[in-house]
Amino acid sequence: MALLLDTLGDRVLLGEAIPESCFSDWTGHAACRPLALVRPTSSEEVSRLLRLCHEHRRAVVPQGGMTGLAGAAVPNADSVAVSLSRFTGVESVDRDAATLTVRAGTTLEAVQNAAREAGFRYPVDFGARGSCHIGGTIATNAGGHGVIRHGMTRDQVLGLEVVLADGRILDLMNSMIKNNTGYDLKHCFIGAEGTLGIITRAVLRMAPPQGETHTLLCGLPNYKAAVALLHRLRGAGLALEAFEVMWQDFYTMSCDWRDSQPPLPTSHAIYVLCEAEGDANHLETALEAAIETGEVADAVLASNIPQAQALWAIREATGEFPLKLAPINFDISLPIPTIGDFVEAAGEMLQQRWTGISIVNFGHIGDSNLHLTVDGRSLAEDAPETHHAIEAEIYRLVGEYHGSISAEHGIGLLKRDFLHHSVRPEAMDVMRALKHTLDPNDILNPGKLLN
Ligand SMILES: Cc1cc2nc3c(=O)[nH]c(=O)nc-3n(C[C@H](O)[C@H](O)[C@H](O)COP(=O)(O)OP(=O)(O)OC[C@H]3O[C@@H](n4cnc5c(N)ncnc54)[C@H](O)[C@@H]3O)c2cc1C
Repeated sequence: MALLLDTLGDRVLLGEAIPESCFSDWTGHAACRPLALVRPTSSEEVSRLLRLCHEHRRAVVPQGGMTGLAGAAVPNADSVAVSLSRFTGVESVDRDAATLTVRAGTTLEAVQNAAREAGFRYPVDFGARGSCHIGGTIATNAGGHGVIRHGMTRDQVLGLEVVLADGRILDLMNSMIKNNTGYDLKHCFIGAEGTLGIITRAVLRMAPPQGETHTLLCGLPNYKAAVALLHRLRGAGLALEAFEVMWQDFYTMSCDWRDSQPPLPTSHAIYVLCEAEGDANHLETALEAAIETGEVADAVLASNIPQAQALWAIREATGEFPLKLAPINFDISLPIPTIGDFVEAAGEMLQQRWTGISIVNFGHIGDSNLHLTVDGRSLAEDAPETHHAIEAEIYRLVGEYHGSISAEHGIGLLKRDFLHHSVRPEAMDVMRALKHTLDPNDILNPGKLLN
């Protein structure tokens, strides 16, 4: 500790001075006070810290806004937590290149605001925008709204500065769109959950501001019709911003929770909430054709912002899950055509083992992302072993369907033991080799992602 204090002085917090907010992430999983919390104010300070920890083989846990949902930023009692919360700010905005250069501790919301002020938008967006750091969103390759159009965080990153485990500062601050000069190393660190290096700065792309957007809710006879509608709307000359599928159980439950009359009857098997930018006539023409072929049974098109918000409120019932259910949430990806079959198979499999179990499903189907939620209240015994058994069964099924056990929230501690369902042994070997090359003393976020 003396060496740490000598090297970084008042950047170091010890004992009771360490705030509880750095004991665990949003999940509250395995909360623990770290040995020390270091809050560097520059890349050089991060470098000094890592050089020291590398020499002394001390575990380092990078922390952003602690909004992660995989337990990936959780420290243990022997580790040094590193928060980038004091290395913040947008360093520059380049309107000609449509890029921003930012420090890792800047919140996502501050980045969005800077882009808006420059006449653009930063298209990554989700509920934790006010707290999560841009460094955390890069380290988790966060998704959220708008992925169907703009891609994940990875697609917005042009350049990175990363401090390696031994303290070397890797300058990958590219700001050009075209740059084929061998391995694109930045991608190693995006989605690596702080296990390969600490991200300190980034060059991000900005998108043009959003144009006129239309919000549509449709009732459909089955999942196959939803896939057909997705295909149809993609070819309709519109830019799809969202294509959210709610299964009947989800829609009915969410409408029950609202005071108002459901915008569509609760009798349809599937509901699609869709947002599209472009000419309203294109949307109406596509919708008429979908109704004619029977793909869509019923539909309502929002004619103003409050109506659009009311439609979104149905889908945003997920925010109420922790209050009204005892949710066991799954954030998984599957090949789009198979999602309907997976939902049925998962439901049957769970019913066979836990009779009467209740499940609700919705998904960002345009992104191949399904959110399946088991309501723990319906379980006879609500023990951690039961949760674990349900997870094991669902992830095994995901593996059978060639899906991914993590669509957007990452692996961290919570999904680490299930990673083999989605990553082949050879790929796991390459991941371990990469980790060993970049972090031979295994100091960076040890035990997360890989074991
Ligand atoms: C209400 C809510 C809604 C959410 N919605 C979404 C959503 O729609 N889509 C989605 O993808 N996620 C979502 N999340 C999850 C979470 O917000 C994201 O994973 C976010 O990217 C985490 O950022 P953070 O700064 O809080 O990172 P943290 O939770 O602090 O850390 C997450 C991981 O990143 C690493 N890390 C953090 N900073 C750095 C750095 N500078 N260098 C290297 N590694 C670092 C940590 O070690 C850890 O492994 C949501 C969370 C909440 C609470």
